[in-house]
Amino acid sequence: MKDRTFGLDKQMEISGELGYAEVIVNVPIRRTFGRGQSTPPPADLPGFDSGGEAESDESTASLQTFHYHLPPELLGSVQPGHLVWVPFGKQTLQGIVVGLADGAPVQTRPIKRLARPQPVLTPAQIALSFWIADYYAAPLSEAVKLFLPPGLLRKDEEDGGIRAKREEVINLRIPPQEIWQHLFGLGSRSKQVEVLEMLLATPERTIPVVELQLHCKLRTVSTLKKLEKDGLIHLEEEGAKLALPVKESQTALLALRGVEKYRVVLDALAGADGPLWKSELYALVETNIGVLRDLHEAGLIGMAEKVRFRDPLAGRNYPRTWPPRLTDQQQTVWQAIRNTSFVRPEELTPARFLLHGVTGSGKTEIYLHAIAETLARGRQAIVLVPEIALTPQTVARFAGRFPDRVTVVHSGLSNGERYDVWRQVRDGEIDVVVGPRSALFAPLPRLGLIILDEEHESSYKQDAEAWGSFSVFYDARTVARQMAELTGSSLILGSATPSLEAYTEARTGGLHLLELPRRVMGHGGTERQKAKGEGRSGGDRDGGQQTAGSARHSQYASRSSPVYAEMPPVEIVDMRQELRAGHRSIFSRSLQSELHATLDAQEQAILYLNRRGTNTFVLCRDCGHVEKCPRCDIPLTYHERVSVLVCHHCNARHPIPEICPECESKRIKFFGSGTERIEEAVQQISPRARILRWDADTTARKGSHEEILARFAAHEADVLVGTQMIAKGLDLPLVTFVGVVSADVGLYLPDFRAPERTFQLLTQVAGRAGRSARGGRVIFQTYKPEHYAVQAAAEHNYAAFYEREMQFRREQGYPPAGRLARLVFWHKKLETVQTRCAEMAAGLRARAGEIALPGEQFDIIGPAPAFFARHRSFYRWQILVRSPDPARLLRGLDIPFGWRVDVDPASVL
Ligand code: ADP
Ligand code: ZN
Ligand code: ZN
Repeated sequence: MKDRTFGLDKQMEISGELGYAEVIVNVPIRRTFGRGQSTPPPADLPGFDSGGEAESDESTASLQTFHYHLPPELLGSVQPGHLVWVPFGKQTLQGIVVGLADGAPVQTRPIKRLARPQPVLTPAQIALSFWIADYYAAPLSEAVKLFLPPGLLRKDEEDGGIRAKREEVINLRIPPQEIWQHLFGLGSRSKQVEVLEMLLATPERTIPVVELQLHCKLRTVSTLKKLEKDGLIHLEEEGAKLALPVKESQTALLALRGVEKYRVVLDALAGADGPLWKSELYALVETNIGVLRDLHEAGLIGMAEKVRFRDPLAGRNYPRTWPPRLTDQQQTVWQAIRNTSFVRPEELTPARFLLHGVTGSGKTEIYLHAIAETLARGRQAIVLVPEIALTPQTVARFAGRFPDRVTVVHSGLSNGERYDVWRQVRDGEIDVVVGPRSALFAPLPRLGLIILDEEHESSYKQDAEAWGSFSVFYDARTVARQMAELTGSSLILGSATPSLEAYTEARTGGLHLLELPRRVMGHGGTERQKAKGEGRSGGDRDGGQQTAGSARHSQYASRSSPVYAEMPPVEIVDMRQELRAGHRSIFSRSLQSELHATLDAQEQAILYLNRRGTNTFVLCRDCGHVEKCPRCDIPLTYHERVSVLVCHHCNARHPIPEICPECESKRIKFFGSGTERIEEAVQQISPRARILRWDADTTARKGSHEEILARFAAHEADVLVGTQMIAKGLDLPLVTFVGVVSADVGLYLPDFRAPERTFQLLTQVAGRAGRSARGGRVIFQTYKPEHYAVQAAAEHNYAAFYEREMQFRREQGYPPAGRLARLVFWHKKLETVQTRCAEMAAGLRARAGEIALPGEQFDIIGPAPAFFARHRSFYRWQILVRSPDPARLLRGLDIPFGWRVDVDPASVL
């Protein structure tokens, strides 16, 4: 890896002498690959360290930095991180300054001007961009974009780009009780007004007509006649006098002057707690800018334009929460963190932790404690959660503990909102950012803590399959480690089922391992009262009342630790036995009786189906045998059209066996069933059950997740049938039974992470049951009851799973025992895919031979069609590179359009 020292050090030495800048230019990535279409080369193309591989500038242009000099007017004001306009060939493009220098290796052109007054990247972010580009063998310009809100970069100078929204703030500049008196100075003047004013000046007095005519410049008496007719004055011998009492005369005067329109505005401002945004005022009263200007000119209101932030949490009220008393195990874990990271009262000592805590063990409370200590030291925090877990409940837990200091980013925000969040964070106005993967790139100036909840989630990896995606396929877990390093921050990874990568790192001392082995009785109080009619609270520690939950289930909480709940017991049902006993239903006898018992107790059940991986593998229904590739040890995939079994790693083809090679049975079947079929089956065995379905079909609409969840939580349904989505974060006290329809389905995907995913999912799904004193039960139905992933999940035994799975990874050199990179090629023509893949593989093999160090090995596996071999009308083929540092083979390589380079792929499907 190249040694880069931009940013952090360079910023220290800004001075007038540094007249040159190194700039990442935002050259649009080309959409087609053809020699005729290369971008015009810039005047100052520096040499590019491509290992001699780059044949032309066309595919490397976006990888580089370019040198420019600073014109006199910019000397001293340009810093690393500044967004600037620079000449590039015949165009003017935007670029980001990544470093300053006192010279350049080439002849340079001047930077044109600053695009924004303040830098858009922090020094740490610049350094991290270089690291990301290097680690993921990705274009630097793309790495930099990860840190910028969408819409910030512009293609040409005409386009204004995204900006903060500015709006007038309006405030009352007089005491509210003086509004009345000020109104008399407003509005239009007329002869009638002048007469009335004069009379009101001395209300008791009768003023001679001549005097009025003189003062008010009346040529005739028609004005006075009019006022008399309207009942406002009396005309007598001696002159004119007010016809009405003073107060009413005043009101009449104001009406004559037409000041009602001013009064409503002033009253609205007086009624508000403080200044109002113009649009808020417009919403309150009917008014317009003319009226506001009059009031402003009269000095009655203040109007000042200010940046109005579009705050994603605006208008939501999160109830304030306070830290509860920690349980013994939380206390132990918390002390370990405090004694490492927060020993000194003034500063933070960076450290890295893996918090391995079973579902519902109170990990979030540990995060909240760590954030509080971080904030107390003047530092800031990023909390990453999977997008699907970013529910209002999650946000409320953070926002409620640190009022006004938290914001949230998520995919539902508009570009404007994203920009405002980014700006507020950069300006140091927000201390805690909660969000999915991309929240990692929030520009907190004093970062001190990064938390990654549900660390095992594959959504932390940028998906290389996303349509039209040319971005960096980064993994937030990997980048977070580097960012913590660069910023001197602590890192806490939390999960009930840590990724093998994280757990291995913890085992080898790279992370402090902290364990929360027991579940907190979260719904202790209210639920126990409902279940047993006891009047005790759930958080008490006296231990006397923990004998039983509901009448049906009674397996929780020992006498000594009253605040803990036991994990629900899991029964594994062998579907082969069911079949042998003549039961062909998709629900075993055990599952059926549990379902009925749950309904009888007026409790709720979840039925879970692993959707991914159905209908793809061939299974012996008598012994559960699944055919695997003898070379790659992953399941073979059934291809219907050609009636053949294919290995999606090495492309080997095998015939479909007529009889099971294991037990010689002829009952060989494809496997799978959908959520709808399960819904029907439930209806068949139990017409009384009220069923909700939660899958991709029923949640296509925005907000439907929350709606389904809310309905189930409100007990509007008894049974929730769903796929992967239901595994995450549901904490529902009435759910006492979870049934997994086919626990082994996910095991047969041709991906080395299939057993790990299956274990994680089964553990998470099982974790949905028994959240309250009612207890819970779980059933796994499977054709492979002896599989270690199923067994370990049923026993809630992470360590056992880890040992067994690592054995497999070591044997095959799969991560974390080795590393992979995946190159996927997309094209509409199959022949093109095949030739390009063959060329690439040959090229990689040749290059591997050239650059491999003694003892270093690059295994090039494939090309083979990817498991998801077609997407839209494109064919997808892939090549795997297995090596301790696969990116070394790809760095600086001229990678043509159509390829996606995925270093450390989350999946090889
Ligand atoms: P996890 O994040 O490990 O899944 P949570 O933090 O969601 O667990 O905690 C599970 C439940 O236990 C929540 O309802 C939470 O409010 C409750 N809880 C956690 N810690 C405590 C505590 N110290 N005292 C009382 N309740 C707690
Ligand atoms: Zn068999
Ligand atoms: Zn194979």
